[in-house]
Amino acid sequence: MARNRYYETPHWKALKRATHERDGWRCVVPGCGSKLRLVCDHIVTRPNVDHPTHLDQLANTRTLCGLHDNQVKEDRFGKRKRSGKPIIAGCKADGSPLDPRHPWFKG
Ligand SMILES: [Zn+2]
Repeated sequence: MARNRYYETPHWKALKRATHERDGWRCVVPGCGSKLRLVCDHIVTRPNVDHPTHLDQLANTRTLCGLHDNQVKEDRFGKRKRSGKPIIAGCKADGSPLDPRHPWFKG
């Protein structure tokens, strides 16, 4: 999706910085924590408008690394890949998956 002018505003720059500060400048996907190519992701996709909206606030943003952003970002039709849910790899010390949506936890 083409960048719109909102991403040039002080509002966005402050929100992005506050998001990264809150998240410790690390990807928030469980088990990841990467500091590589960090992006500020909108959890619920914002409308493609130039001005700040109710979705442009800390409650709707998260820090993702480049890998996880690529897994969930909007395609060219504006639809979120994987419904915006990044792949959570790895397991806990007891061997159970880190991903709460893993099939092991169903049923
Ligand atoms: Zn990540």
